[in-house]
Amino acid sequence: MTFHAKFSGYADPALHAAGLYIGGKWQSGSGITVLDPSTGNLLAEVADASIEDAQRAVDAAHAAAAGWRATPARQRSEILRRWYQLMTQHAEELATLIALENGKALVDARGEVAYAAEFFRWYAEEATRIPGEFRRTPSGSHNILVDHEPIGIAVLITPWNFPAAMATRKIGPALAAGCTVILKPASETPLTAYAMARLGEEAGVPPGVVNVLTTSNPGGITNAMLADSRVRKLSFTGSTGVGRVLLAEAAKSVVSCSMELGGNAPFIVFDDADLEAALDGAMIAKMRNAGEACTAANRFYVQAGIHDAFVAGLTARMMSLKIGPGYDPETQCGPMITQNAVRKIDRLVSEALAAGARATTGGKPLMENGYFYPPTVLENVPVNASIAREEIFGPVAPVYKFESDDEAIRLANNTEYGLAAYIYSRDLNRAMKVGKRIETGMLGINRGLMSDPAAPFGGVKQSGLGREGGVAGILEFMEPKYYAVDY
Ligand code: NAP
Repeated sequence: MTFHAKFSGYADPALHAAGLYIGGKWQSGSGITVLDPSTGNLLAEVADASIEDAQRAVDAAHAAAAGWRATPARQRSEILRRWYQLMTQHAEELATLIALENGKALVDARGEVAYAAEFFRWYAEEATRIPGEFRRTPSGSHNILVDHEPIGIAVLITPWNFPAAMATRKIGPALAAGCTVILKPASETPLTAYAMARLGEEAGVPPGVVNVLTTSNPGGITNAMLADSRVRKLSFTGSTGVGRVLLAEAAKSVVSCSMELGGNAPFIVFDDADLEAALDGAMIAKMRNAGEACTAANRFYVQAGIHDAFVAGLTARMMSLKIGPGYDPETQCGPMITQNAVRKIDRLVSEALAAGARATTGGKPLMENGYFYPPTVLENVPVNASIAREEIFGPVAPVYKFESDDEAIRLANNTEYGLAAYIYSRDLNRAMKVGKRIETGMLGINRGLMSDPAAPFGGVKQSGLGREGGVAGILEFMEPKYYAVDY
């Protein structure tokens, strides 16, 4: 394993891990380079798993499965609780790791660690409350007894934009349910996942219950694992495009799938909104992680009477943000994850400008070594521009003017996605009525942030299948078993 010298100055060496974690053993290796997105320089190199390594991980998860399933819920709960405590104790090192490999501002990275750890605490609690059911049939013929059993070995695939939270949001409920798992983190941000695995070991997670592998061949190793009849669950968070490919692959062995996919969140501001509150919410919904969030506001629909004041206020706030490397404590807007991400944002913005939009701030990539794009506000954007259809995944706020509630609803629903939406209005009755007609899995009313480990997170339409977090999250890793009982 290799770590760039700069890296050791920032993070606790005890958390440096770069080898595959299979069956409780660390296997060193190399082949996947991790870059600092604020400079493009090499940060570290981690192991590159082969198909054989993936098969060994399934073997290890299988060997641990019976023991973990039989472990009393209280004991599983206490291990998760210890893992939560260790993440909290190591919060600053983990946040630094995230800021280094992902590029997000430290303030966002600290928020992510707290959010991520909370999934372990929440599922430590849920582990001891797995629901069951007992009823008599309506005809009176017999009794219905429903138990929930762990679904079996779960493959967990996570993206780079929340390297800690997307992993704990899956590992927490899976372990609470009694499943063993194989986690494949994104290649851009593997260090956080390995660091968390070290803490899991310290928390007492038995060998084989959690396995972690990084690979340059995600399709090959995932397909091999899905073809193994011992694997019964795929929980994926990432783009809708890759989600579709994985659903087709999982269909071959009828593996149960939970899919947390892309978003295209509308942010609707009505004339009667509290302008300052709407601007505060807009900054959170747009600029958390510099716009690299699936729930990020992607389209701002602002009613005609408040439109100009909203654009002026948003422009002033976006212009005031300090851009820099995530690990610089002053930074408010870090770099994008890759050069390709900057190219995609540039394409969407250039096309919108060519179609008649106007940038009130930003609008061009920054000519730096790292992958920086400045906070940007666009007004007068045509409603059919590609920036209204595709995920921007960057610090760009396109604003569209609307007149009536019906028009706002029609525009908001004009997308294949349905993950998150936001409404700002002082009239809660109006907000709820409009909210009912928005096709979305999650809705923030007078709030720019909705994520909470105790709430069901997920989307409708092509934003996904199933829910993570909350009471629903644990059931994604369980199968109901019905006993027809007569006595
Ligand atoms: P991505 O390209 O779909 O990658 C996600 C994960 O899938 C990575 O670990 C990637 O591995 C892996 N992968 C890629 N191709 C694969 C294949 N053929 N088989 C198996 N695994 C494969 O997404 P991303 O760019 O990392 O993340 C951004 C996307 O995630 C956005 O669309 C965002 O909206 C979505 N997201 C959704 C949620 C949600 O909860 N709904 C949360 C966060 C992000 P490599 O890194 O090795 O390519």
